[in-house]
Amino acid sequence: MPLDQAEAIVLRTYNFGEQDKIVVFFSREKGILRGIAKGARKFGNRFGSSLEPMSSVRVFYYEKERKDLVTINSCDLLRSFFDLQRDLRTSFTLSYFAELVEEFVPARTREDLLFRLLLSILETLDLKGDLGFLSRYFEAWLLKINGFLPDLKRCKKCRLSLTGGGWLSAKKDGAYCADCAPLKKEGVPPEVGFFLGWAKKNPPPKAGDILPFSPAELESVRKTLQTILIFHLEKEPKTLAFIK
Ligand SMILES: [Zn+2]
Repeated sequence: MPLDQAEAIVLRTYNFGEQDKIVVFFSREKGILRGIAKGARKFGNRFGSSLEPMSSVRVFYYEKERKDLVTINSCDLLRSFFDLQRDLRTSFTLSYFAELVEEFVPARTREDLLFRLLLSILETLDLKGDLGFLSRYFEAWLLKINGFLPDLKRCKKCRLSLTGGGWLSAKKDGAYCADCAPLKKEGVPPEVGFFLGWAKKNPPPKAGDILPFSPAELESVRKTLQTILIFHLEKEPKTLAFIK
């Protein structure tokens, strides 16, 4: 069997049998990759801290034909984001990101853009970037990369500019003005469209950068983006309950 390798971020691990772990990786080259790390629960095992959630790693593995799980041979730690886990809210938020990636990324497909997004969010958080702002930034880009981010700046039907706000469509693929909205259930305040326009053009803000949106505006953005995410997932992410 040839030894394969991939640059990856560890999304999560869970115990398997007496001594092993199953590791879910998000790899730059192959999307979601699930592997078995034999002996990873033994004291002083060869994996060290490389399997901690959100570690940036280079993983070496063997792939068996017709098997979903690869066998992990070794894992080199490229960058640890372990310090981020010390803050409970950050830690829960990272689990939420991991769940979203696992849900949205198909197995064995290259997802370079999303991979770079997650890595850049981790690096920015490590530089004490704003957790709430970066969460909205991540959600917006995750939707955009998957083709689920609607144009919320103009009415889907009459193209009227929604600078005064609008109403989210039933299939979450756009927003309507007050005249065109068939039902006025989920309001989209204008700041949501402004935020999405901003996020498209700017890198994630670092610590010390002046944030162009207030906490109240970011709260509107959160509501709309999570409504769209939940619609496409057809369920609420399990990890969302911890960060509400
Ligand atoms: Zn309209």
